[in-house]
This record gives sequence, structure tokens and C-alpha cells, in this order.
Amino acid sequence: MILVLVEHDRGVLAPASFEALTFARAFDCEVHAITLGAPADELAPYLGAYGATAVHQAHHDLLVDYGPDASADALVSLVATLKPGALMATGTDRGNEVLAHVAARLDAPFVANVTGENLDASADRWELTRIRWGGSLHERATITADVRLLTVALHAVEPTPAPAPAVATPMPFTPTIDPSAAITIVRDRVKREVGQTLATASVVVGGGRGVGSAEGFEPLEALARELGGVVGCSRAVTNNGWRNHTDQVGQTGTRIGADVYLACGISGAIQHWVGASGAKCIIAINTDAAANMVTKADYAVIGDLHEIVPAITAAIRSRRGV
Ligand SMILES: Cc1cc2nc3c(=O)[nH]c(=O)nc-3n(C[C@H](O)[C@H](O)[C@H](O)COP(=O)(O)OP(=O)(O)OC[C@H]3O[C@@H](n4cnc5c(N)ncnc54)[C@H](O)[C@@H]3O)c2cc1C
Repeated sequence: MILVLVEHDRGVLAPASFEALTFARAFDCEVHAITLGAPADELAPYLGAYGATAVHQAHHDLLVDYGPDASADALVSLVATLKPGALMATGTDRGNEVLAHVAARLDAPFVANVTGENLDASADRWELTRIRWGGSLHERATITADVRLLTVALHAVEPTPAPAPAVATPMPFTPTIDPSAAITIVRDRVKREVGQTLATASVVVGGGRGVGSAEGFEPLEALARELGGVVGCSRAVTNNGWRNHTDQVGQTGTRIGADVYLACGISGAIQHWVGASGAKCIIAINTDAAANMVTKADYAVIGDLHEIVPAITAAIRSRRGV
């Protein structure tokens, strides 16, 4: 039997859960789902449609909102009772976080962000493919364990209802959760009204190591203001403490979808490109004509950003008669 952790946010189902259920079905064995917290109880009929024959509904005071420690304790508790052949979750931040905690508690191997073909639940060794580095690397992985822990790569599987929908029998239970798990539970949610965000801005002016310092971003801020956009940056910048991580574009930052991305003093490493490539027009400003960002950009200006960025701002202002 395969157990699938169904991700939800206070009862609102994460669509990736259907991808995980579809993936689990491909092993051609019984699939059970688990939901954590009473707010998710209503999800059972939707899970049956994707092939889950039972839904284990964990109820506990520490499962009222997301918490990786409490979630992991609940899963470990159910795994000890059911002894499934595998525990799967979504390849999301939450899915990966919770299963990493489960793996640590069980001292078991965990394969994150997998996809695969010709899957065979009865095989001792499961051959899987891991999608890594934002999709730029596909890695073959083999897992052998009493309970295989894996997350299903996001959007790697088309979520498909089961040909013969099941009636998912609700099976409520109270897991054992250590009180210390309360330390990492969402207690409150405050929505900040910040106007444009990096993810939604139509213009992003990005700065990399070439900017040189935190103060060096002032000309980029000025240009972003003129263009009605926001400032982004590379990880070299956040690593140096020049800007907050919320400004970082890339695999471990934000994926932008701007109409225009001006990448200033950024080399264009694959992890940055993964976040930048959604922009419709990319303009690189770089002293190095061979930099990845330059060769991949729609337009490039070869030169010192400290001269070029203020010059663009001045040209825009002059056209506007400011
Ligand atoms: C697991 C992992 C995840 C990562 N995630 C991310 C991520 O989310 N986002 C990210 O950005 N990176 C990420 N990285 C880091 C990434 O690999 C690069 O190290 C990083 O993007 C480099 O930043 P950079 O381009 O600013 O710096 P560099 O690579 O040092 O490039 C600086 C560029 O500035 C140019 N330059 C220098 N001076 C000037 C000047 N005066 N005028 C114009 N150009 C100038 C140089 O020619 C060069 O091209 C990740 C790495 C790993 C291993």
C-alpha cells in the first residue's frame, strides 16, 4: 500500500496533491491518503476521485495549521501502524519539508522531486528520476527501504482522475505528537500590502555582484522608480547581505514574469536563469560580453553598469522633461 500525504492550507486543497495521487496510482497498488487536521476532513470525496480508497484523517490540537514537526510526528505515527510500502507527498516546499522531517525521525532515505516510468511497487529497488536544479538536471536514483519516502516533482505528472473512482473511506485517528512540535506551527497570518511584488511587477531591475555594495543599488532603485518597477537581485547579493532574500530572483528565490527584466552585473548562472527566464524581454548590462546572461538575453549593453544605469535613468527623465 502507498500512503499519500494530501497537502492543504486550512482545508484548501493544494492541486499538487492530485499529481501525487496520480503518481502513486501508477504503481498499481492500493493507495491511501492522509490529511492532517480537521479542516481537511471535507476533502475525502475529491481524493476518492483520484483513486484513494481510504483517507486517514489525523485530528490533533497541534494540527490546526501548518507545522512541519507536528505533521512529521503524525505521519510517523501512522506509518508505524499501517507500515505502507511508501509514503509520498507533493514536491512543494511544504511536502519536501515535512518528508525531510519524517526521514530524519525514521532514519530512512528520502528521494525528493521524483518522476518515473515503468513503476513497479513490488520491486525491491525502485528506480526513479529526480528533477533537480530547476529542471536542468535529471538524476537517476534508486531507493530501497521498508518505507520509501519520496515527493513527486511539481508539474511532472498530469493530474488525472482514476478510471474507476473509489469511495475514500474516512478513517479518523489521533496521532501521537510531541508537545515540542508546537515550536514550528503557523500561529498568525499577516498580509502586507506592498503594492507590486517581484513576482507580479511588469518591470524588474535586477542587480548582481557587479553592483558592488548595498549602496550601489540606489541607481537601480532610481531606474526602477522611473520605470514603475521593482528591484531584484542575484543570490550573490543576498549572500553578501546587500539586500533581503525577498528580492532574490532564481531557483531559491522568486520566479519573475515581468515584461522587461534588466539584469545588471549578473552573470546568468543557471539557478538565476531559472527565475529570470519567465520575463518576456531580458536586457543584460554587463562588462563581460561572454557572460551567460548576455548571450541569452534579448538585448545586451556591454559596459560598466555604474555608468549605464544612471545614463538610462537620465535619458528617461530628459525625455519626460524632468
Ligand atoms: C542550490 C543553489 C541555488 C541557487 N539559487 C540561486 C538563486 O535563486 N538565484 C541566484 O541568483 N543564484 C542562485 N545560486 C547561485 C548561482 O549559482 C550564482 O552563484 C549567482 O547567481 C551568481 O550571482 P551573480 O551573477 O550576481 O555573480 P557573479 O556570477 O559573480 O557575476 C557577476 C557579474 O557581474 C559582471 N560585472 C562585474 N562588474 C560589473 C560592472 N561594473 N558592470 C557590469 N557588469 C559587471 C561580471 O562580468 C559578472 O558577469 C544558487 C546556487 C546554488 C548552488
